[in-house]
Amino acid sequence: DHDRGDLKSAIRTIPDYPKPGILFRDITTLLGDARAFRRAIDELVQPWCGAKIDKVAGMEARGFILGGAVAHQLSAGFVPIRKKGKLPHTKVSIAYSLEYGLDEMEIHQDAVIAGEKVILVDDLVATGGTAVGAVSLLKKIGADVVAACFVIDLPDLGGADKIRELGVPVRTLVSFP
Ligand code: IMP
Repeated sequence: DHDRGDLKSAIRTIPDYPKPGILFRDITTLLGDARAFRRAIDELVQPWCGAKIDKVAGMEARGFILGGAVAHQLSAGFVPIRKKGKLPHTKVSIAYSLEYGLDEMEIHQDAVIAGEKVILVDDLVATGGTAVGAVSLLKKIGADVVAACFVIDLPDLGGADKIRELGVPVRTLVSFP
């Protein structure tokens, strides 16, 4: 957490949400803090400033907020990855496991041109199930996934390592044990 105490303290922790025993890391407080929001976006994109990134992909719903800001900062396009049934055009789907159950997510088949460089963004990586599914979707439609970025890492759950095993570099800003 290299000197990112200000970012960390902008994140609120809610005990027993969405179920007993879970410590939910809530970024709405970070998003509502203008300095912390800007700092988080600046730090997320820092390795790719000046790089040619074609698109940023964000996972519904918090990945839309962060990913939209990251896309703007990198002058890239934005690609939504959504829960089943929300996208209107021809799509590719994948079932994925997440910390609290099973779900299905989708991407538009024509969301990238083959070989385009894409960065994946979400608020938090826990088991990595969501992000691994998103990377698979992006690869299926021909993206070159150059990195996955998260504000928060829960390293004890091993998700960042699972993404790295796919050959995708991972950037996280703060971690909670
Ligand atoms: P994973 O698939 O187990 O890595 O879980 C990550 C996904 O679940 C992300 O889309 C997160 O937004 C969401 N998530 C899991 N735990 C938390 C949390 O404590 N706070 C906010 N989002 C969470």
